[in-house]
Formats: sequence, structure tokens, C-alpha cells
Amino acid sequence: MVCMPESAFTLNQSRGLPFYSCRAFEELPGLRHGFSTRTGDGDNRPSRPFNLGYTEWDTAGRVDRNRRRFLSALSLPENPLFTLRQVHSNRVHIIKEMPAFWNPPEGDALLTRIEGVSIAVQSADCLPLLIADPQTNAVAAVHSGWRGTLLQIAAGTILSMKEVFRSDPKCLLVAMGPGIRSCCYEVGPEVFYLFDQKHPGAGLAVAASGHPGKFHLDLAKALKIELRAAGVEPQNIYDIGLCTCCNTDIFFSHRAEGARSGRMLAVIGRTETGP
Ligand SMILES: [Zn+2]
Repeated sequence: MVCMPESAFTLNQSRGLPFYSCRAFEELPGLRHGFSTRTGDGDNRPSRPFNLGYTEWDTAGRVDRNRRRFLSALSLPENPLFTLRQVHSNRVHIIKEMPAFWNPPEGDALLTRIEGVSIAVQSADCLPLLIADPQTNAVAAVHSGWRGTLLQIAAGTILSMKEVFRSDPKCLLVAMGPGIRSCCYEVGPEVFYLFDQKHPGAGLAVAASGHPGKFHLDLAKALKIELRAAGVEPQNIYDIGLCTCCNTDIFFSHRAEGARSGRMLAVIGRTETGP
């Protein structure tokens, strides 16, 4: 495991599973959360990565088993876990009451205030965000790749938290997990220009040396601009700062590994505190 550039996150080990957590979240009563890694399946053989996404090369039974193990390591109930069919959209789903049946809808953010349920997004380069509101106990999980960032999925989630749960953005805590960083995120001019148009002069990309017409995009920086514009205080944004593509011994990276890449989960939920 690599050292983290910031100490706002902890690398934990629970029931044989390593996972990262954000210290600021750990102080909130009843709140459980974590960002998984690719390791944890038995003896950590590369051929048996700890995959938490329903990929073509893995079996649903094994993914289900891994998901239950991860929730158990986070001290969350093994069920129910709510996820989405992620489609790089700006669609936010709000779970207001316990669904009797959950057929994962298309979307890229989940939001709830119900105790005893867990919500999660999966990723393998795109940035996962977990959001906690210490005042209203609302929690959110957001999947934001370049398309979702341009569509402002994170800002849309915060707006929903304001509208539905009366959250004050100034009080929200945001944890940004592992994802592809500017060191490895080479994009074409069409993507660069979209970001440049959206945030002129923000310096979100630099020309890739040796690759004419290519740019290195800083997705995390774009997300922080979006979060601050949505009213989140800069000191409440915690970025793990780790690149998935640089660290394929720890994380899955679709850019580095292609279709054989697994998926990690960013999970958040609140335990039942009783009457
Ligand atoms: Zn990198």
C-alpha cells in the first residue's frame, strides 16, 4: 500500500479486508463508510482480485459474496445494499422509504436518510464521492467521471439534498476517493475543450508531452470547483489524492487494465440506532 499524500484518510484492515476511510466521517455517530481496494480475496493472488462489480468475467455469486464481506467489514448490515446501473448521467435517485424490491435504475447518485441501509457507487477510474450531512443525517454516494462531472452530477446531488432534506451545503462533508488523476488521465482535444469552455482559465488540463493534441485532465480539480460552486466549504472537501491508474497493485483501473478490470465500491450508510 502506498502512503497517502493527505492524512485525512485512514487505511483500515477489518476481517481480512483493507479499505480506506475518511477521518472526518468516522467522528459522526452511527455513520459507516469505506472505499474498497482490489485486494482482500484470500491470499491476494492477482488472478483473484476483490471485485465488487458485475463484470462479464466474474460470476454474480462471487460478486454478491464479496459485497457482503465488504459490508460486514464496514460493520454495516449485509443487506440491503442499493446500487445503480451507472450510465455517466446526472440522474440522482432518492431513497425515501425502504423499497420492497430494488431493480437498480439507471443513474449515478444515490441519496437517503434511512437507517440500516447502505448505498454505493462502483468505479474503476471515475471519481467516487461520499457525502455526509451531520445535521440531517442524509448521506449520498456519487459516481463522477468526465461526463458526469460536465453534467454536474455532484452539484445535482447537493441540490437534491437541499430540496429534499433541507441540507445546508456549508455543513456537508465530502470524501473524494481513488480515481484516475491528471498524471494518467490523457484525453483528446474534444474533451479538453468541453472542460475549458465550462471553466475558462481554471487550468484543468495541460498539454501531454510527446502526444500532440492530447491533454492531461484534472478531473478532481474540476469536481472541487463544482462542489464549491454548490456551496460546499473547501475545508469540508477531503480528497484521498490517489490515482487508480498509477496504483494497479491497490486499485482497479479501466484505463490501465481494460475490460478485465474489476470494480471497487464506495459505500456509505447509517446503522440503526433504535428508538
Ligand atoms: Zn496516475
